Amino acid sequence: MVKETEYYDLLGVSPEAGDDEIKKAYRKGALKNHPDKGGDPELFKELTHAYEVLSDRNKREVYDVHGKAGLEGGAGGMGGGMDPQDLFSQLFGGGGGFFGGGSSRPSGPRRGKDLVHRISVTLEDLYKGKVQKLALSKSVICKTCEGRGGKKGAVQTCTSCRGQGVKVMLRQLGPMMQQIQQPCNECEGTGEIMNPKDRCKNCNGKKTLSERKVLEVHIDKGMKSGQQIKFAGESDQAPGIQPGDVVIVLEEKPHPRFQRNGDNLFCEAEIDLLTALGGGEFAIEHLDERALHVTIVPGEIIKPGATKVISGQGMPSYRHHELGDLYVRINVKFPDSIPLDSIPLLENALPPRKEIQKFGKKVHVDEVTLEEPNDRQRRTVQNGDEMDEDDDERGGHGVQCAQQ
Ligand SMILES: [Zn+2]
Ligand SMILES: [Zn+2]
Repeated sequence: MVKETEYYDLLGVSPEAGDDEIKKAYRKGALKNHPDKGGDPELFKELTHAYEVLSDRNKREVYDVHGKAGLEGGAGGMGGGMDPQDLFSQLFGGGGGFFGGGSSRPSGPRRGKDLVHRISVTLEDLYKGKVQKLALSKSVICKTCEGRGGKKGAVQTCTSCRGQGVKVMLRQLGPMMQQIQQPCNECEGTGEIMNPKDRCKNCNGKKTLSERKVLEVHIDKGMKSGQQIKFAGESDQAPGIQPGDVVIVLEEKPHPRFQRNGDNLFCEAEIDLLTALGGGEFAIEHLDERALHVTIVPGEIIKPGATKVISGQGMPSYRHHELGDLYVRINVKFPDSIPLDSIPLLENALPPRKEIQKFGKKVHVDEVTLEEPNDRQRRTVQNGDEMDEDDDERGGHGVQCAQQ
């Protein structure tokens, strides 16, 4: 015996109606009264609320025993309800689409979750390509019982919780009725019961077993950070669901010498002042057990901070493996001192000194010299630009090519 029949009446079903009948009745009523079809929005809302209650085993149980009052003010936000449109779309698949013709309800088994796994890869791996083995443990359907958990027909829906795995208890709390959900004790929250002697010995009735699986991840040349490698259907198996994918997401590790931008590489090299002015060579260690010998021809002046490019020495592009370029920012290391008697040689070789700026008679000129900044003054400067070579710790900022 139910306490009230209002919700059943709204849907036009009897209190003994099964889930399918209730669903069918709601669908019929909702279609007829849907606001998009010119129906009464209030009635649509009420219908939806009635369905929301009667389609939920726990809520229906509470309603049957205590009526609408039992659902109000209880724990778990029963009073709030959900947006009728949302429920409608959820049920019949994409609200609007439903009226456009043909039901768009997803068919086939429910899809399991994808397993996303990040692996960090070196720039060398992305330059050369690599096969990386990845071991993971996943759930697989027990082959002995084919995912039933026991002998054929031995598994039955738990009558105590009607297969829900949880039971709603009502507790008087002052003037309010409080609802508490508890795992069903008869079926231990599984919603199913089985005679222990029929239980599958292989999986112990759990239907699935944990299995170690090794995946071979093919990291192709030129792949980029964030790129995904999919293993379709390799995620956890469970009865009645289509397993999701294992998705490997690449994460490029920072490289001590190179920076990457698309298919181009960037690095820094340091040359001495003589090489910068008079030519010479330096070397760059590459990502694949190669080194590049770079020649600066005499007569070519390299200015401090100049960026040069070495074509075709960047990263291979993904798929086509076309090579990008390598950009080299060249730092020029100045000597700390110079013999005084060689200064005339420089004066001979270099363009003459720039003439000092002249000022008018009204400007008073003070004679000053340059000093090394003291500690406090150095902190004021503190912009990474070294003021003094002795103090230069090269604290790891910036990248540098190997050099001679
Ligand atoms: Zn149960
Ligand atoms: Zn089994």
